[in-house]
Amino acid sequence: MNNFEYSRATDVADAIRQIVADPAAKFIAGGTNLVDLMKYDVERPARLIDITHLPLNSVEETNDGGVRIGALVPNSDLAYHPVIATRYPLLASAILAGASQQLRNMASTGGNLLQRTRCFYFYEVATPCNKREPGSGCAAIKGINRINAILGTSEACIATHPSDMCVALAALDAKVHVAGPAGARAIAFADFHRLPENAPHIDTTLAPDEIITVIELPPRSFAANHSYLKIRDRLSYAFALVSVAAALEIDGGRIKEARLALGGVAHKPWRKVDAEAALQGAAPDRTIFVKAADILLEGAKGFSHNDFKIDLARRAILRTLTQAANGTPQIQSVKRIR
Ligand code: SF4
Repeated sequence: MNNFEYSRATDVADAIRQIVADPAAKFIAGGTNLVDLMKYDVERPARLIDITHLPLNSVEETNDGGVRIGALVPNSDLAYHPVIATRYPLLASAILAGASQQLRNMASTGGNLLQRTRCFYFYEVATPCNKREPGSGCAAIKGINRINAILGTSEACIATHPSDMCVALAALDAKVHVAGPAGARAIAFADFHRLPENAPHIDTTLAPDEIITVIELPPRSFAANHSYLKIRDRLSYAFALVSVAAALEIDGGRIKEARLALGGVAHKPWRKVDAEAALQGAAPDRTIFVKAADILLEGAKGFSHNDFKIDLARRAILRTLTQAANGTPQIQSVKRIR
């Protein structure tokens, strides 16, 4: 690991001041990804700005029925918070599907959004990787790409975003509140993470001198009919090969509103409004679930080792929508797929 300086921010304004003064610095909260990246020599920040003392660690219900989650709320606290566990069980379930209890205790909500890909070559500095070193090439496209993306890829990068929590936040239509030298702004979750295109080193639309302050959930929570299903090589402490967040509002035997997002298959949580529109107004049955899966997976392309993900994703979508429609969500403490 390289030497670095360390400072502590006292409030959001001070954090912004410090990052503007030293653009080679990085914010650190739980450090569950950044410290690994520094040990592997993938990240070499000249300074770490410790933001753990900022007042961003509360979960508050809003007047319009939504919830504001401070960026520093640890993943465990969020999953077990009574408001999240009861009103937003899809989010709680996705969080509990990720990492390990110890990591969830450390990892922050904002940091979860900013974690970087787990592509093997990104962490191996002896290999070409456009995300780590722009212009060097992509070792994964013709390499071992079992864990890589099948949707939204580019010739420059086929990495996936590793988060479970973000898949649920995408399905729930969350908003990301950020602050920077130009003031505060809100980013729709769908616009927060980028596809790789020809700049895979840029993961998100967050500017380098901005900080995430709050994640906002809208009032609609899909508590009755939801499921988060994660398929992985090991039953715990493994990243998703494919994951699915499904949320349905069913009224009179018909789907009034649907949300469907995939993890482990793209550079960002993969969602298509057309797939959700196809479900709307239909009876929740296999025929319409197959149609939604077809739309969501349109254009999917494997790179040899990960070809299996296309069929796996299709089956996982059908299973998760069925679980959601039946009101029998996947329980993360029960490893058997229901
Ligand atoms: Fe790097 Fe992306 Fe290629 Fe992986 S897929 S080696 S992260 S450029």
